Amino acid sequence: MSRRHWMSAAAAVLASALIVPSQAAAEPVPLPADLGMARLSDLVVEKAGGAERLRFSAMIVNIGSGPFELAASRPDTASAWTVSQRLRHADGSTTESPTAAGMIFDTGDSHGHWHVRDLESYDLLRLDNGVKVGTAAKSGFCFFDTDHYASLPGSPTSRVYGPGSCGHADSLDVSMGLSVGWGDEYPWNFTGQYIDITSVANGKYRLRATADQGGLFAESNEANNVTWVDISLSRRKGKTSVKVLRYGPEALSASSAR
Ligand SMILES: [Zn+2]
Repeated sequence: MSRRHWMSAAAAVLASALIVPSQAAAEPVPLPADLGMARLSDLVVEKAGGAERLRFSAMIVNIGSGPFELAASRPDTASAWTVSQRLRHADGSTTESPTAAGMIFDTGDSHGHWHVRDLESYDLLRLDNGVKVGTAAKSGFCFFDTDHYASLPGSPTSRVYGPGSCGHADSLDVSMGLSVGWGDEYPWNFTGQYIDITSVANGKYRLRATADQGGLFAESNEANNVTWVDISLSRRKGKTSVKVLRYGPEALSASSAR
């Protein structure tokens, strides 16, 4: 007999005589994270040799009711990582659930720490027909609290997670976290924080950023992970410029709109 059925049976028999413990006391209340993207900013075109790069700042945010935490471990430096998401509950207990997320050390950023793959994805789409014309170079993220984004219930007023736990080359245990109401900003000038637009024609495009595009992580709302900015790209007299046409919803407005 399942626990739930047993409790129902017990309740039926004992209800008149005893106070039956609530289900909530027996099963910890989960405090799920909820990932989203803040408004994209700092759009600039960088010329690199003969190439053109559309650079931008992006910030992933946690607007859930609990922190977003990953813990990765490996038995030795020759072995692959196992990555788990650590889920917190209202009573302070935690459970770990395995994810298919991968780890990468060298993203070319010279940070000397570990990165989780595919936390965020960026792409550039034609505004008229949605055809994808570019994808961002950045592929790995060491995430932590960099900016306070929203004063939500349970949001700490000062940083809880810092960059130190992303480890170093020989680490066997690495962890990362993002507090409730906090964001992790990737500035426009970071390694890989761009889309190559060398062969993208003048016209109107949507620069789109998606948190957890692959659905690797547990969160309370999978429908508010995307933000975008529509832009006009033009080249005149050797100068390439980007004009912002309009912004799409960001994490909090994407949530309240549904
Ligand atoms: Zn890094």
